[in-house]
Amino acid sequence: MHASRVLRSVAQNAAKAAGSVSATLSRSKPALPTGGYASEAVRPKLFIPGPIEFHPEVLKAMSAGARGHTDPTLIEDFGRCIEMTRDVFISKDAQPFIVSGSGALGWDAVATNLVGHGEKALVVQTGHFSDRFTECFVQYGVDVSVIETPTPGARPSNDAIEKALSDAKKAGNPFKVITVTGVDTSTAVLADLKNICNIVKAVSPDTLVVVDAVCSAAGEELRMDEWGVDFVLTGSQKAFGVPPGLCIMIASQKAMARMPAKEKVRNYFVNLPRWLPIMQAYEARQPSYFATPAVNTVGALRVGLEQMLATPGGMDGYFEAHRRTKAKVHAAVKDMGCELLTQNSDIAANLLTCIKYPKGKGAAQVLPAMKAAGWFLAAGLHPKCKDEYFRVGHMGYSVTQTDLVDKLLVDLKKVIQA
Ligand SMILES: *Cc1c(COP(=O)(O)O)cnc(C)c1O
Repeated sequence: MHASRVLRSVAQNAAKAAGSVSATLSRSKPALPTGGYASEAVRPKLFIPGPIEFHPEVLKAMSAGARGHTDPTLIEDFGRCIEMTRDVFISKDAQPFIVSGSGALGWDAVATNLVGHGEKALVVQTGHFSDRFTECFVQYGVDVSVIETPTPGARPSNDAIEKALSDAKKAGNPFKVITVTGVDTSTAVLADLKNICNIVKAVSPDTLVVVDAVCSAAGEELRMDEWGVDFVLTGSQKAFGVPPGLCIMIASQKAMARMPAKEKVRNYFVNLPRWLPIMQAYEARQPSYFATPAVNTVGALRVGLEQMLATPGGMDGYFEAHRRTKAKVHAAVKDMGCELLTQNSDIAANLLTCIKYPKGKGAAQVLPAMKAAGWFLAAGLHPKCKDEYFRVGHMGYSVTQTDLVDKLLVDLKKVIQA
């Protein structure tokens, strides 16, 4: 009796809800032109560490008419994306993987394709995102060790990294992978990647170097072949400047040779041996299918990559533009009388700055005032100190092709000193 009464009431509620939905629909206004904003002019510019501002040409590609995944023009876009991803990471022969998803999917890829259940991974911790990578390893039963950084905004010493790697090697059980967060988005700590690669080469050459470059790829220098990086993962929406929707990965030939057969990978969707023939087919301009690619985002990625690589000086020019922006932002932060969360300027990212609030101010004073001035910034994120600082992302097209950062800094000084 009771159950049927419940059923009836559920049905009645559904009917009522359906009535109110159709009533709402018939009364609804036309969709706002810019997402939820009445116009582009009132939309605050997005300066968080991803997503970032999108170039108009990238947006145009996003709104292209429907194409199937076997359309020759889409295959051409995909093939170019694969080739250009190799150029962005400065590699001759590494294997790109472009898969629907976000950056976090890359963690799952690493934890199941490069290291097996019960095998060993070493995480260099520089903030919240390193902790999330650790959490992902734990989820898949990887035997994970962490080189901890006690203070948010610092990075562990290279000696500690060397010791952990060489102890494991001497014990006859070297780490399968070491993971480094290129820029930890919660602290703006930039990894000492090139030196870490050298340490790995010297003391534990069989360990694969994996970089979570979700908030560093393209904006921060990374020379895959020259430095000896084995695997990089990122998402389309950070320095690549393309709407979210793609997980972009690239594996060295050394990493490819280590991958198990597809049946042995404890993952179905992000099973890199299953995706390999698909990527090879697209690069050979042949149709192929394992799961539907985010077709419009792939089209947009092609435009974003072309723009990035067209920077005067190529990738070096692109890195340099972000270095100049960092210098400008750090000088302005000093001029406002604020401090960085990151321990010092030398270990801070070029495409993101974590700024401590001045005395007497906090998120409630700074972030809404900046939004009213036309800038959407990010709150603090590190669990130990998230209320003490805020974050300004400065990467991609708005940095390399506009003067928006200069304007933002003028407004920020006014808000900070108000
Ligand atoms: C944003 C970010 C991620 C997660 O990427 P999503 O695209 O949000 O899934 C992982 N690592 C770092 C360093 C990030 O900045």
